[in-house]
Amino acid sequence: MSSNADIVVKNLTKTYGRFPAVNNISFEVPRGSIVGFLGPNGAGKTTTIRMLTCFLPPTSGTASVAGFDVFSQSMEVRSRIGYLPENAPTYTEMRVQEYLAYRGRLRGISRSTLKQRVESVAEKCWLGERLRWPIGTLSKGYRQRLGIADALLNNPQVLILDEPTVGLDPTQIRETRKMLADLAGQHTVLLSTHILSEVELTCQRVIIIGRGQILAQGTPEELKQESARRNSSGAKLVVEVRGPTQQVKMALGAMPAVENVEVLSDGPVCTLSLSGKLDGALRELIASTVVGRGWALREMRTTGTSLEEFFVQITDPGTAMNQAA
Ligand code: ATP
Repeated sequence: MSSNADIVVKNLTKTYGRFPAVNNISFEVPRGSIVGFLGPNGAGKTTTIRMLTCFLPPTSGTASVAGFDVFSQSMEVRSRIGYLPENAPTYTEMRVQEYLAYRGRLRGISRSTLKQRVESVAEKCWLGERLRWPIGTLSKGYRQRLGIADALLNNPQVLILDEPTVGLDPTQIRETRKMLADLAGQHTVLLSTHILSEVELTCQRVIIIGRGQILAQGTPEELKQESARRNSSGAKLVVEVRGPTQQVKMALGAMPAVENVEVLSDGPVCTLSLSGKLDGALRELIASTVVGRGWALREMRTTGTSLEEFFVQITDPGTAMNQAA
């Protein structure tokens, strides 16, 4: 993947005193992709990002951004990176347009292209109708967009966003997500977050970090499969049937692939939880049996294999699983 990766991290470590905040991590972010960097509080996300953005020197290991080493070629890295820090600093009195122009000048964007760059990032971040508003009057959602517009000013190859949706309401979160989807392809995006649904909906790949180490990485789908594999004993098939509970239980329990049936709710519609070899063949057999007996199949769903369960499972300090997927 390396030749096609915009971020390459190898055995990167950062210790504070003797405490390893980031402990020998390696990962890559392919060009043009959005990769989620996910972990609970204190996992080491911000420390990693601060090394990638040249704010913090690594204790050991290497990292490169857009092909340049973050330690020895920091000028090249900085000019190719856009960074939205967790708490984007803003000047409440300034108007949006003035602020972006000011930030552009700080970055050394020439007078001749500054106006065009400001207009371009304002358009990309849907700030058009707020250009003349003082920052202090913007909603949190618009301020966050302004932070992203700021990060985009020098048209960076790589965009690093630290918790871009923190504190936003659901509508604002959805809008930010759409905006990020538009930016993908034009930029390589590393999106740090502790919100799982954000990663599942926005990112092509996920890196899960916990206690300074990479716990798993892959596509959301691969991680779900990994979860199902590790957790096959924990996975359950929940079946909802309109039919006589005990007869339904006996019929399903008699299937060779089913090891155990538990009644979750009784009544005209009963809910049963099945464990065993929960594959597609079993689902088909359940469907045909239920219908054949004249009952109605209302729902079949698998539990214990969601990304959320996987995340909790591997980031829980009490769990000893920490091999990469
Ligand atoms: P959050 O989501 O809460 O921001 P995070 O994943 O970004 O968490 P980091 O901020 O990278 O985590 O912190 C990783 C660990 O390093 C934490 O245990 C934190 O307390 C510790 N840490 C961070 N900065 C320092 C520092 N300057 N000195 C000592 N310890 C630090």
